Amino acid sequence: MQCFDAPCTAACPTHIDIPKFISMIKSNNVIGAAEVVKTSNALANTCGKICPEEVFCQSVCTRGKQDSPIWIRELHFFATQHEKEKGFSATKAFPKSKQNVAVVGAGPAGLGCAFELAKLGYQVEIYDGRKPGGVPRNSIPSFRLAVRELESDTKFLSRFFKLKTQSVDANRFEQIRKSQEAMFLAVGLGQDRMLGVPGEKLKGVIPVLKFLEKAKANSTSMKIGKRVVIVGGGNVSLDAAATAKRLGAESVTLIYRRSEKEMRVWKGELEEARKQGVEIRFLINPVNIVGRIKAQGIRCRQTRLSRQKDKSGRQIPVEVAGSDFVLDADTIIIAVGQTIEAEWLAGVERQKGGYVKVGEGFQTSVPGVFAGGDMIAGEGTIVQSVAHGKQAARAIHEYLSAK
Ligand SMILES: Cc1cc2nc3c(=O)[nH]c(=O)nc-3n(C[C@H](O)[C@H](O)[C@H](O)COP(=O)(O)OP(=O)(O)OC[C@H]3O[C@@H](n4cnc5c(N)ncnc54)[C@H](O)[C@@H]3O)c2cc1C
Repeated sequence: MQCFDAPCTAACPTHIDIPKFISMIKSNNVIGAAEVVKTSNALANTCGKICPEEVFCQSVCTRGKQDSPIWIRELHFFATQHEKEKGFSATKAFPKSKQNVAVVGAGPAGLGCAFELAKLGYQVEIYDGRKPGGVPRNSIPSFRLAVRELESDTKFLSRFFKLKTQSVDANRFEQIRKSQEAMFLAVGLGQDRMLGVPGEKLKGVIPVLKFLEKAKANSTSMKIGKRVVIVGGGNVSLDAAATAKRLGAESVTLIYRRSEKEMRVWKGELEEARKQGVEIRFLINPVNIVGRIKAQGIRCRQTRLSRQKDKSGRQIPVEVAGSDFVLDADTIIIAVGQTIEAEWLAGVERQKGGYVKVGEGFQTSVPGVFAGGDMIAGEGTIVQSVAHGKQAARAIHEYLSAK
């Protein structure tokens, strides 16, 4: 459509030049289109598959005002897939500098930062105890993102940095900080939050990331039991519900303490979970897990929404006395959010929720140490994390250039 000041490009956190790549596809230069996408977004193929376009580019498409928006993400994926089949296009040689920067965490934020730093000429080392890819590799279910789709990006990116398969602890953090010109932290939110109710240590109660990781790694051999209850109300809980169904659970019930209106989910995912036969029950709070050694069910209490609102603007749920009931379950999955798993970051200032505090330019309280992705902002999206990485790389460049 050649929109002037394309709103889709502005809405994309990595600011992909969307009119440009679409017009390249139109003129049959599909490889060129893929290059445009990849230059802006390090996880181009992954985002082409699962970026929530209902939140970003497509939601503001000018064409949507006339009839329906252009399927931007699908065109983006078409381009990166085409390039994948034809072989990677040549990338321009980047300038070379002698300065070294370390990145800790090879998820979307770390990879986004490493790619941008490489484009600016830096020598980059990425530390991660696992294979690169972060949550998209380890936890996002295969039926939404197969490992090969993610690897199409990580294999392309691996030519731009050195990967050190090492987990960083307090000692290594200090060593890296002293030996490198600057450092970018992007370790995400690897620790599941729990409910804090009695019985959570019983067998059969699983934190959601552990469940999803296990399912992604061993989907064919994993046993789930007949009845599954999931506690939560976000996208991650919907992924867990759809995964449990696919693993053969006869009944999957999701319980949420507020109403559907307050759920923070992408509508497409909610519909998909319902289509899979997941039962979603609202206005229910978990009280305790029932069982002796193994969980047999979960005691719940009905809630109602009070007039008071919390900081997120949502009505606060209040328990209704005398409304307890038990839902029988073989497996109970707790999906109430994640937090940072990094005791070794004791010297870095935090903000509310335990997230790392950064100032303008993604600088932490420690000089020369920058941070981005979910660990500074809470649960977000892949494209937002890549964008943090990109912006932080430019801030690191400014910081080092001024030194
Ligand atoms: C189940 C699930 C489904 C999701 N679905 C979507 C979706 O469909 N679309 C979307 O856009 N977003 C989705 N998200 C959100 C998205 O995955 C995250 O916002 C994004 O992965 C955050 O990127 P990150 O780089 O900040 O952290 P992460 O992806 O968590 O990566 C952090 C990396 O740091 C490494 N690390 C941790 N500790 C250390 C250490 N001590 N030393 C070295 N390395 C370390 C980890 O191994 C990991 O590789 C989903 C999230 C979840 C949990």
